[in-house]
Amino acid sequence: MIIVMKPNAGKRDIENIVEKLHEHGLEAHLSTGKQVTIIGVIGDKGLLSDSNMELMPGVDKLVPITESYKLVNKKFNAKRTVVNINGIEIGGDHFTLIAGPCAVESEEQIFQTASKLKESGVKILRGGAFKPRTSPYSFQGMGVEGLRYMRNAADANGMIMVSEVTSLATLQEAVPYLDIIQIGARNMQNFELLKEVGKTNKPVFLKRGLSSTIDEWLNAAEYIIREHNNQVMLCERGIRTFETATRNTLDISAIPVLKSKTHLPVFIDPSHASGVKDYIIPLARAAAAVDCDGLMIEVHPNPDKALSDGAQSLTPDEFKELVRQIKPIVEIMGRKL
Ligand code: PEP
Ligand code: MN
Repeated sequence: MIIVMKPNAGKRDIENIVEKLHEHGLEAHLSTGKQVTIIGVIGDKGLLSDSNMELMPGVDKLVPITESYKLVNKKFNAKRTVVNINGIEIGGDHFTLIAGPCAVESEEQIFQTASKLKESGVKILRGGAFKPRTSPYSFQGMGVEGLRYMRNAADANGMIMVSEVTSLATLQEAVPYLDIIQIGARNMQNFELLKEVGKTNKPVFLKRGLSSTIDEWLNAAEYIIREHNNQVMLCERGIRTFETATRNTLDISAIPVLKSKTHLPVFIDPSHASGVKDYIIPLARAAAAVDCDGLMIEVHPNPDKALSDGAQSLTPDEFKELVRQIKPIVEIMGRKL
């Protein structure tokens, strides 16, 4: 439920409501807009059944919220979340490029990729160190050694970095190196992990589960924010369908749906969505046009030799071409690259 205050409601009126909610064992979440203040109520609203909240001074109306997620809900917080990492803003009117290899493979590979991506204006470097591979016999990532190389490559090029954690143990190992914590598709509903990343002070990049609905995904984000980490970004990376021509099916409609339901920034990852490098630029153009907040793209200096996801990795030059093609679309959408 949300309590919408009247435009002329005073500070004391709002404090009274918050006190009353606390007396009933409920939490209050304040969203102060230009015109009105909205108070989100978290907890069992049945506890308020005979409290006559609507009659309290300054209250305009009570509006029930039917969705199970609250803090990520636009009805709770109408202001769009802008994530700020060392002055790099994500969301709002920005269009953010995150790029890098599927996995860090060597010091040379990550340094080479980072310096090339910097030329294309990329400020956020990606690269997996703990790789959740389908086969246990596939390359599993370099672990902390890979994170160390990546941290140095990012620092040397004035970039920040994002990498995936797959468990509570890898979260602990990785956190000191990371600017953004990635939760991959396979862990989107690892609730214990979500709670732990929610207790950190690092922004979280939450990818959509392989077969997760938008509601399940938003509830996953709620787990993180509930622990008081509200710097969460969502990333659509394709879902399982009957189609086999592409690795997954990019759910482009998820973007307008999410924009109507949540205030969080939303990214698209056309690399994992399609699995085919020839489809990445067209899908990136569509992503810019559907008004998402940015892209995550896999880039490798030598995709033919990549230890993972080479078939969907662009070369740095192909990535440069991607940026050239999306730029006018991003600008038409009123965003800054
Ligand atoms: C990745 O981004 O490295 C990755 C493994 O993607 P996903 O979790 O979307 O499969
Ligand atoms: Mn990959």
